[in-house]
Order: sequence, then structure tokens, then C-alpha cells
Amino acid sequence: MTVAASAPQRPPIALIVLGGYLGAGKTTLLNHLLADAQGRRVTVLVNDFGAINIDASLIREQSDDVISLENGCVCCSIGGRLVQALVEISARADPPDVLIIEASGVSDPVRIAQVGMLDRAFRLHGIVVAVDAQGIGETLGDPYVGDIVRRQIEGATALVLTKTDLIDESAKGAVTSKLLELAGTRIVIEAMHGAIPPALVFDATPAGTRQPNAPALRSATPAHLPAGLRSFTFRSEARLNRARLKEALRVLGPRLLRAKGFVLLDDAGAPQELHVVGPRIRLGAFSGAVSAESTIVLIGLFDPEDERLAIGALHSAAL
Ligand SMILES: [Zn+2]
Repeated sequence: MTVAASAPQRPPIALIVLGGYLGAGKTTLLNHLLADAQGRRVTVLVNDFGAINIDASLIREQSDDVISLENGCVCCSIGGRLVQALVEISARADPPDVLIIEASGVSDPVRIAQVGMLDRAFRLHGIVVAVDAQGIGETLGDPYVGDIVRRQIEGATALVLTKTDLIDESAKGAVTSKLLELAGTRIVIEAMHGAIPPALVFDATPAGTRQPNAPALRSATPAHLPAGLRSFTFRSEARLNRARLKEALRVLGPRLLRAKGFVLLDDAGAPQELHVVGPRIRLGAFSGAVSAESTIVLIGLFDPEDERLAIGALHSAAL
């Protein structure tokens, strides 16, 4: 779609890319920001690596302007779905003030920002990257995904430390030093209960036409994803036993990087929100509208038999 030459000039839409590794807490940060948008019209574009966009469902509780791009990494589809979505947003009769793109946990947020900057309707205001303070040390050392996370940190214009309640002060200091070593930014702030000051995002100065600490244009070849990164989905209409569900989520060991979804349990009436991040499993009440079945998206570096193994174990958690 093109805009006629005589069309009045519109102010650019502020573009913010929210990145960070799988399970770093991006969606929680985003929901807090949306609750405190102070009258700004915000469109949210959510990329989820899995086939079902769980994050988009979580955000719809807070915003009715959510666009969902699932089933793959959006920075690897340059010229594809992301560009199309940007064109549609900028061509709206009443475009938003702000577009926040929540990158998938394995995406390169700099590449997403670069795609956004090719469209003159947008102006980049920041690349905010969430970092799991407890898990980051191990993730950076991981031979398969360490590079993904390092690139996310290097390209950030601001870093947000999450889950700091799980570590002590000296560990927090060590993580902060490590991040400052890697990052091109000096801005490292700590999220409090999943929230950051909205001004950090909404009042950020435009970042210019290119990121100061990023290469001019990163290669369009999708080489940044580790071979073997896969996702599959479990669905069941039966209620699941809480203890057996937790056991089933552990059968893949460390090959399971992230799982998320909504589940119906035997001991809770309402659907529960499920998050698995490394060894941590969290279940909590979810008040939003979800279908009357359990849906879990699993993301990991899987062996060929893993899908069958995990789906089998999950079905045996059903009553
Ligand atoms: Zn990608």
C-alpha cells in the first residue's frame, strides 16, 4: 500500500523492540507498560516461536490492539510477515503513537529494529532487552544458545534485569558487571515485580537511523538459530493431575528450554497459566478467556524422539 504524495505528513510511530531470551519475562514487562501507557495509543506485535501464540493471549488481557505473528522467528522472515504487518499498521487511517514489538525469545531484536527502520513511518526509540538475572550466567555459557543471548544483550539500548528476587546482592552485582562488559549501553535497570518505569520506554529518545552499537545491517540469512531448535504443541480436553504434569514437564530434561500455556488441573476450577523456564515450573491462576482445553507449547533443542516422549508423558498426566 502506498500513501499519495499529497497526503499530510504524519508524525512517525515510535518503535520499541522488546527482546530477551525465552522466559526472561518480556510479556510481564509488556503488560505492566500497557497498564501504564498514560493515554498513548499503543499497538503490540507479538512474535512467538511456537505454533500457538500464548504471549498474545496473555497480552490481550491488557490491550485490544495486539497483532500475533507465530510459528517461527520473525527476524528470519525479512521481507515477509513482519514487513507486511508494519505496512498494515502504518497504513491505518488512525495509526498508533507507539508500536511495541515483542520479539520471540530466540529472535535478534536488532534485526527486527532494522526491518522497522526501513519503513519511514516508524522511528526507532529503543531496543529494550529483558535478562533473567538468575539464569543468564548459564545461558551465556550454553554452546547452542549462548550466541543468541549475547547478540540480544549487545544490541540493546537498555537492559532490564528480571527475577532479581531469586538471587542475592553479590550475584546481582556480578550479573550487572557481566552485562556492562557485553552491552553497548550503560543502562541496566532492575525490574520490580516485573515492572519498569514506563518513561524508560515511552520517553526514550529516538535512536537515530541506525543503532550505534550494531553492525550496519545484519545478514539476512537465518543463521542465528541453532540447528535443532524446534517447537511442538500438546492439547488435551481432560483435566491434568498437577504432580504428574510437573513430572511430565521434566522428562526432556535440559533439552526443554521453555514451555508455556494454559492448563486445566484436577485441583483448580479456573484455567492455570503455565510457565516452564529451565528447571523452574510455575502455575498460576489465569482470569482471561481461553479455550476449554489444555494447550502447552514446548520449545527446545529436541532429539527426534522427544516430541513423542513428551506428548506421551503429558497425556498420562490426564485423568
Ligand atoms: Zn530470526
